[in-house]
Amino acid sequence: MNVYDGQRIAAMLTARGMKQTDNISDADIIILNTCAVRAKATDKVFSALGRIRNAKKPDALFGIVGCVARESGADAFRRIPELNFVLGPQSYHKLPEILENPDIKLLNIDLGGLEKFDELPQMEKSPAVAYIPIQEGCNHCCTYCIVPYTRGRELSRPFNDVIKDTVHVANTGAIEICFLGQNVNGYKYTDSDGKTYKLSDLIREAAKLEAIKRIRFTSSYPTEMTDDLIEMFKTEPKLLPFLNLPIQSGSQNVLTRMNRPYSLNLYIDIVDKLKSARSDIQISSDFIVGFPGETDEDFEQTMNIAKRVKYINSYSFKYSPRPHTAAALMPNQIPEKVKAERLAKLDSYLNDLQREFNTSCVGKTLTCLYEGSDKTGKHLVYRTPYMQQCITDACDGIAPMLAQIEITDANKASLRGKIIK
Ligand code: SAH
Repeated sequence: MNVYDGQRIAAMLTARGMKQTDNISDADIIILNTCAVRAKATDKVFSALGRIRNAKKPDALFGIVGCVARESGADAFRRIPELNFVLGPQSYHKLPEILENPDIKLLNIDLGGLEKFDELPQMEKSPAVAYIPIQEGCNHCCTYCIVPYTRGRELSRPFNDVIKDTVHVANTGAIEICFLGQNVNGYKYTDSDGKTYKLSDLIREAAKLEAIKRIRFTSSYPTEMTDDLIEMFKTEPKLLPFLNLPIQSGSQNVLTRMNRPYSLNLYIDIVDKLKSARSDIQISSDFIVGFPGETDEDFEQTMNIAKRVKYINSYSFKYSPRPHTAAALMPNQIPEKVKAERLAKLDSYLNDLQREFNTSCVGKTLTCLYEGSDKTGKHLVYRTPYMQQCITDACDGIAPMLAQIEITDANKASLRGKIIK
């Protein structure tokens, strides 16, 4: 989502004649697009701001957009008085106001609108992988999560607007699309005729576009994997056989305290249904270890669920107490040392699973999407349908955007292969 927001901000400034620079001391405007999901991300923003204020040109405008802006609000101006603007994730389209009025302090952390999608210019040329937001915000209110506070309640974009964006990226270079939302599979839009559209309808419509060869979506809530959506994995070959389906914990008690009130059996049923819809489907997850009150036994159950589902890659985090969340106030917060030990143990096992899956790909031929060449220029970097990085030797002439690659070698982080065609 932040990559997408960054692209839209860049398109907005490019349309005003500005150019991108990697050098802070050259910049006329410096924008930090920020994430507030864990405390570490927020801390990094403020230490970066401290560095930037010393390195920038004295009259360069600088500010923050996104979730840390929303979380800190006016307090950000108190911490870093040189800041010119603080704009939340749903108001960064207001950025040009600071270009017109460089002397003001621009603060807007309002929520509740999809306005930015209509106000921002489209990129003229789409990258091969195009992100298309279909909803923002989240109604689940997991007790650890700051997202409902920073991005607000769930709002789904009109079906026709999403399709218009999809057609635009298809006509301007996209090969793969990724539908985005904090609760993407909760997408639900009812038009003025009373017809309701779901994520499965968007996938079906997007798949009709000849230029679009691969479709994926992120991030999903387990119990919103409804049968119509699961069925798409059977009927729609353009939908990639890979899904991030965060479980967070393998302990029923912890899930209840996280306010993720699904049963583990139901989660496993959904995974089994997905596997019977498409036998080559693979699942990844997000995990939080050290949630308040998590016992050794709870943690062992998380290890067990990882074993049961055999996730092919995952994101795992130490629980981080966040402002505006219920879990931050819960008793029995877990000491840092215990969190770190549990994380190391889980990570090591998840890495084994990842290596195992990567190794199982050796000998197979996968259709991969070109990403670019590596730093040396001697190799090409591709992405498999499972989002693994696959490295090949550079070829004569132009690298094919979609290539059949025979996988010859694998390690934990990536695959190696030979382009067949
Ligand atoms: N559905 C959201 C989730 C964003 S956060 C989205 O994709 O936009 C991504 C992951 O960060 C979550 O799945 C969760 O595993 C982790 N996370 C969220 N809040 C956290 C916290 N307070 N501490 C540690 N990890 C957290």
